[in-house]
Amino acid sequence: MVEPRACKICGKSFTPNKYRPNQNICSSIECQYQRQLDNMKEWRGRNPNYFKYKESHDSSWKQTCKQRSLDWRKKHMDYLKLYREEHRDRHREYMRDYMRNYRKKKKGEDVPGEGPAQDAGGSAPAAA
Ligand SMILES: [Zn+2]
Repeated sequence: MVEPRACKICGKSFTPNKYRPNQNICSSIECQYQRQLDNMKEWRGRNPNYFKYKESHDSSWKQTCKQRSLDWRKKHMDYLKLYREEHRDRHREYMRDYMRNYRKKKKGEDVPGEGPAQDAGGSAPAAA
């Protein structure tokens, strides 16, 4: 016959299952839950690298993503810069014409003889 004993967690006395005479935790839900948590802790204690590995894996993955987007941005910025420098003059001309046409349209001016920007960059004096 198994003697009643005090639960290791809640301290209440309980009678262990006769098939598990070493049981030292009662069968209440709270204590069983606590036992599971303890088991998990113990398992973690026995497998300390499992979560560390996962975390390091995750953080290196995040790092990779971050680095990749930084690289992309850097390349992109370089590209944009190059593009702007290369096309600055053309862009300036284009914007000048664009704004001129825009203002015309806005004012509703009807300018005779001037076609749609065919001679751009030709006769117009460059802006200082
Ligand atoms: Zn208990």
